[in-house]
Amino acid sequence: MTKNGRIKVLFFNTLQRRFPMKIAIVGAGPRGLMTMERLVAWQQRDHFPLTISIYDPAGIGGKVWQPTQPLALIMNTIPIQITLFTDRSVRLSGGPVTTGPNLYEWAHTIAANWLPQQPWPTQTALQQEAAQLHPRGYATRALYGAYTHWFYEYVTTHASAETEIHFSPMMVTDLQWQDDHTVLLQTAAGTTTFNGAVLALGYSENQLPADQQKLADHAAANKGLHYIPQRNPADADLSNIDNTDTVILRGLGLSFFDYTTLLTAGRGGTFTESAEHGFKYHPSGREPRILASSRSGFPYRAKGYNEKDDGEEDTPQFLTAARLAAWKKAGHVAGAEFWQLLQAEVEYVYYSLLVQREFSAIDLSQLQDQMRKTATPTAAAQAAGVPTAQLWQWPTILAPRKATDAAQYADYLLNYLIQDYQEAEKGTKTGPFTSALEVLRDMRDPIRQIVETGLLTDDDYDHVFLHEFQPANDFLSIGPPAHRIQELAALIAAGVVTIVGPDMTVSPTTGGFTVSSQAYSDRTYRGNVLIEARLPAVHYQTAINPLLRQMNAHGLLHGYVLHPSGQTVPTGAVTVNRQNAALITATGQELPNVALYGIPTEGYHWLTTASPRPDVNDLSLRETDALVAALIQHLS
Ligand SMILES: Cc1cc2nc3c(=O)[nH]c(=O)nc-3n(C[C@H](O)[C@H](O)[C@H](O)COP(=O)(O)OP(=O)(O)OC[C@H]3O[C@@H](n4cnc5c(N)ncnc54)[C@H](O)[C@@H]3O)c2cc1C
Repeated sequence: MTKNGRIKVLFFNTLQRRFPMKIAIVGAGPRGLMTMERLVAWQQRDHFPLTISIYDPAGIGGKVWQPTQPLALIMNTIPIQITLFTDRSVRLSGGPVTTGPNLYEWAHTIAANWLPQQPWPTQTALQQEAAQLHPRGYATRALYGAYTHWFYEYVTTHASAETEIHFSPMMVTDLQWQDDHTVLLQTAAGTTTFNGAVLALGYSENQLPADQQKLADHAAANKGLHYIPQRNPADADLSNIDNTDTVILRGLGLSFFDYTTLLTAGRGGTFTESAEHGFKYHPSGREPRILASSRSGFPYRAKGYNEKDDGEEDTPQFLTAARLAAWKKAGHVAGAEFWQLLQAEVEYVYYSLLVQREFSAIDLSQLQDQMRKTATPTAAAQAAGVPTAQLWQWPTILAPRKATDAAQYADYLLNYLIQDYQEAEKGTKTGPFTSALEVLRDMRDPIRQIVETGLLTDDDYDHVFLHEFQPANDFLSIGPPAHRIQELAALIAAGVVTIVGPDMTVSPTTGGFTVSSQAYSDRTYRGNVLIEARLPAVHYQTAINPLLRQMNAHGLLHGYVLHPSGQTVPTGAVTVNRQNAALITATGQELPNVALYGIPTEGYHWLTTASPRPDVNDLSLRETDALVAALIQHLS
């Protein structure tokens, strides 16, 4: 630090600075709050007058993490893997480390005295939850919301006297860039001038595409029909849905599980243990009938019971640091090679554990050598004597529908769900199948490096990464906690939920919507409420967020466009400087005093949707320090 003289320069400049550095943060979700913390930490060390103004109509914690939301909605990350603090593993860009409790530690130390002082109607329930929270269980989203509020309070009360922090529960409706020290922000209260702005906007809902607008219009024109577009399920009004309704959920990912929970257990239904399906559902009588499906016809795989220690991850065998360095040197890797080696990583862990547990006659270290040498673990395992029935089968793992047909589908699906949660419960270090899937999470860093350094051609990025790897990764590695799968099996067995079948289509019909499986033509049903059970796509051109719309109109946004096979394919993501998140305008100008990061850049960056994790040199924590470092250096 001092060797390159940066602190000295800052110090010299801050002596010159008579007025506070005025920074706006738009969005008070995890990223907005991390930005505030980093600014405060830098200021405490380098001593310059600072004013931070944070805006978010949803309040502290942002839209996703409100402490008053339904307690039926849970996180899909375990609480020892959630933090907003930096730690010694994080390669910061010069900012000081500020350590603090992760969500689990906070729940068992600070929460007991802090929560009772909060005004929320959920306060008593959150207190009970915090006291009982398991390190490897799943907190409610409301509890993480409470943690974000405490974090805000902690950072603001520990800020120096030279720092002022204001929070306004307001929407920023416009940003006008004046020069590289002046930005104007518009809210309902008027226009305010800042030196710089950080935009951490999260998901935005979009204008409806024509096919969805047609369905929405059909619902609006017919009494008794309802249509809910893609949005956070916590923001959907389900109050006019009752037990006479039939709800169609389009999507079998995380939002599907949220809606199903809100409409069943969230309405007083209960689950008890049962020998047959693990759980038995006892209806409250207030739940509607639910029809659901997706293109695949199978829900996302359960998240494995996490057995790994804090910061513990599988070591790459194929996507090694040396191999990545060679690819970076060459400036290129073929999409097929990347995907094949990632699959080999998964298979390697599967056979290592399977052979250890079940095949003592096979020499494991010899097999591992062979797997490493050939990079085709399944062929090596077969040659070593693993029976065909236990070989890793990508085609049916990625598309379970290939293992069934119209006649068998309902029974097959129920058994699949039961097996899924049973496998998940075996754990991420013990169960061969579950530990293998966990590899996809552990390899996020090498995968990111491939995207961030632009090693794939546009053709490979579009065809292999976005259309082969990404859906496979979502299906296999970002699913719900295992008990949600167990609950789904019980809801299907109780006749409350029907999974329609692969390739579900929805069409407007007189007095309702018809849903059918294109794959299995006899599976056709009718419903009167249609919910798009998916989060909104990242698509800045159609976002209804007024700030994005205005910035786009001013030419301040530059979309990330791919050119596979000479075509033009817009991704919907916004481009920024990859190192410091500085915004790049439509004409390619980089704005040093406007940073934009997180979900609106998804597609340009990869996997922007995760909250920060302690002790793994977390990317969001690194990015936040880097953008704050750049902003302070520029404005000092
Ligand atoms: C339903 C749901 C469940 C999730 N569950 C998990 C989970 O269990 N674990 C996990 O790691 N991740 C989860 N995620 C991913 C989640 O997006 C991230 O964890 C994290 O919230 C991203 O932080 P962020 O600050 O970038 O965005 P957000 O948390 O979305 O915050 C962005 C904020 O910006 C505000 N904003 C936007 N535009 C404006 C404007 N013009 N003016 C003022 N304010 C504005 C919004 O109101 C919002 O509050 C979930 C996401 C959703 C939607």
